[in-house]
Amino acid sequence: MSANEALKQIPIQQEHVPGATILHPARRVVQYLTLLILVLIPTSGLFRIDVAAGGFILLDRQIWFSDIFIVMGFWVFIASLLVMMYSLVGSIFCGWMCPQNTASEYANMLTYKLLGRRAEMMDMSGDEMHVAVRRQSVLNYLLLGIGLLLPSMLYALIPLLYFFPPSAIWSFVTFSEDAQLAGSLYWIYMVCVAVFLLDISVIRHLMCKYMCIYRVWQHSFKTRETLHIHYDASRSDHCASCHYCVDSCFLDIDPRQTAVFDSCVNCGECVTACDALHSKSKKMHGPGLLSFVLGAEDRHGENRGSVASFFSRAKASSMATLLGGAFFVIGIVGYQSDEFSVYRSEAWHGAKILDYRINVAHKLYHPTDITFRIEGLDDGVYQLEKNTVHFETAGRQDVKLHINESLTKGLYRFRVFARADDGWSDVFDVTHFAPGG
Ligand code: SF4
Ligand code: SF4
Repeated sequence: MSANEALKQIPIQQEHVPGATILHPARRVVQYLTLLILVLIPTSGLFRIDVAAGGFILLDRQIWFSDIFIVMGFWVFIASLLVMMYSLVGSIFCGWMCPQNTASEYANMLTYKLLGRRAEMMDMSGDEMHVAVRRQSVLNYLLLGIGLLLPSMLYALIPLLYFFPPSAIWSFVTFSEDAQLAGSLYWIYMVCVAVFLLDISVIRHLMCKYMCIYRVWQHSFKTRETLHIHYDASRSDHCASCHYCVDSCFLDIDPRQTAVFDSCVNCGECVTACDALHSKSKKMHGPGLLSFVLGAEDRHGENRGSVASFFSRAKASSMATLLGGAFFVIGIVGYQSDEFSVYRSEAWHGAKILDYRINVAHKLYHPTDITFRIEGLDDGVYQLEKNTVHFETAGRQDVKLHINESLTKGLYRFRVFARADDGWSDVFDVTHFAPGG
């Protein structure tokens, strides 16, 4: 027998559930990255809500409902991607990304550290909070209060970033004067801080367990083939007098009995816990009893599904994602950075209309000059309030156009040309009836 053949006959002892040892640190990294992304999305100009314009900002562009390809494409793309995600990995967003659970886990960790492991702030069983005797000190309560207040103050800034430009938020936190800030903003901020403080001090994971509609919505896309916790029942004797995985679950689920429509958010803490227990125990051999699996299991616990079956189920969503992406690209390519129109002015001269209003909107958040030119009317018969308007940022302006009363009676067709120094140009046709002097 060759050395290679001899080696092959030695049974391979698997010591860990694959990936179990890095699940916890990987989840922490994803949770903190998500918070960073939530801050970067509005500050980078990727997405923000422009309250004054009544629209939203995407890729530093002001988007109106008339930019239908961008609006439709963006939402169809995002929604169908999310549906595919729910179908493949269930409510993993809640376990790995949700800022609510990140804050709740931090608050639990701080509470356990300062007041002991039985110091549940709110318990649905109605049990009183148990603070460890040796940790009952004013200092510990004070540190806990500060430790919960500071993140609440930071969290409360995140929603504001979606409604105000970063420069305005900087003025806000440095108490500087800024015309972009509403006077009531400090009150709105205080309310946000109070809500976040109540949330991470008291509510914590109860939000995820009993109140979050978004989690219920994600569950509606789960099937038996969605990523879930698998329990190796053939070694269930290891579980006699052990409760470690249940204790590690922040949603108080028994990971050995997960079902399609339970509250499990696939955080993987139970997988790590059981695997760590096995690797340290002298009595329990082999890897942990819990692992993640994709695909349905039959009566004997055999896995029958695969990623391929997911793709066969996700045909409609994939098509919608592609369609949404295509709409979005078409919308971005055909995006008009400026728009203008010419209206009859409300300034009437008896029964005569002699004034027009050129309304121009600049939709990019950087400076530009827009120049107007009239064709089809002699120079002496009209007055343009100004030939060029300057925009420092996105906004709207009006320019008055007056037609002289002395213009000979008749119907005139003239054209208003607009050109921006960033290359955009457009033309508007006007039919004017001159009543004559
Ligand atoms: S931690 Fe592992 S061994 Fe302990 S009860 Fe849970 S599944 Fe069983
Ligand atoms: S059962 Fe396991 S994976 Fe599911 S939420 Fe609880 S700890 Fe996380």
